[in-house]
Amino acid sequence: MGFKELTLRQNEKLLMSGSANKWETFGSKGGKLFLTDQRIVFQAHGFNFGSKFDEYQLSDIQTQGNTVNIKTTTNLISFNITFYTKYGEELSFVVTRSQKNEWIRQITEAVTSLARSRISFPANIPEEDKENISAQIKVIQCQGCGAFVITTAGNAAKCDYCGRPTVG
Ligand SMILES: [Zn+2]
Repeated sequence: MGFKELTLRQNEKLLMSGSANKWETFGSKGGKLFLTDQRIVFQAHGFNFGSKFDEYQLSDIQTQGNTVNIKTTTNLISFNITFYTKYGEELSFVVTRSQKNEWIRQITEAVTSLARSRISFPANIPEEDKENISAQIKVIQCQGCGAFVITTAGNAAKCDYCGRPTVG
């Protein structure tokens, strides 16, 4: 099963990849899911020259307040990653259950990068201060609904989807 490697952009970092099934209206299709600090990409098996990756920008994922609408759910046999785009699409992938913790860790990393890239600093702020401010950004997975909540270190925040409090 030859997979074409994902071509990364300049300044893009691959965080994780693994086997996945993508849920579609008429069943599911198998392939591989890639997570970078900028995109989520799905490549189906039987990928041919000329076919396209299914590609979603992290910046296109729906957000509500400080909460990013990527959710994970686990059951006895599978681990699912579902996200919603700001265009109203719902994408759902079943990934390898043994990779659950790694996926959660890397999604947290991806959302953290996204949050850091969105900080707008006042003009003339020293680089060192920018780094310190960026380092305060924390991302916590909501224990209630599985969404990812952006907060700052040591501060309480609440999930904007289910209202459950989290502590950064
Ligand atoms: Zn929640």
